[in-house]
Amino acid sequence: MAVLPIIVAPDPRLKVKCKPVERVDTDVRKLMDDMLETMELAPGVGLAAPQVGIAKRIIVVDVAPSGEPRQPYRMANPEIVWASDEKVVFEEGCLSLPEEFAEVARPARVRVRYLDHENEIREIEAKDMLATCIQHEMDHLDGVLFVDHISALKRNIILRRLKKEKKAKATASVGA
Ligand SMILES: [Zn+2]
Repeated sequence: MAVLPIIVAPDPRLKVKCKPVERVDTDVRKLMDDMLETMELAPGVGLAAPQVGIAKRIIVVDVAPSGEPRQPYRMANPEIVWASDEKVVFEEGCLSLPEEFAEVARPARVRVRYLDHENEIREIEAKDMLATCIQHEMDHLDGVLFVDHISALKRNIILRRLKKEKKAKATASVGA
């Protein structure tokens, strides 16, 4: 397995609509494992392929609390086949928007159909944090970030701050 570099916003690679996976073969499976390792090390609870620069519909999620057995999901071509009317609000963060958080309301329960790491079609019903996390990661596959769900004012503050940090980092590395 390998740890992949995570793309930080703002970046055009985070705004693309990703392509479906034809089948989950060895290469896709390896990418899923690398993404899981990258996510765990970050640490995070979810990661989408575009965050590591790959425009394919692949996500990994593991919301098990630290110290408890891992519950990793590897999903290709995830689709929401049902969502509850009931919403739930979580404070969301994102590995591509480091140290930024905002409250986002999403359906509290969703039924998701996907291809697993063995190319089998699976369907699960997720609720609470798992449901939120899957929806957050699926948004990435359509170029949507959690800040796209909040007010333009708050979004611009966050994106401006990230841009500034990026610039400062680029200058620092040129100097080094
Ligand atoms: Zn994210």
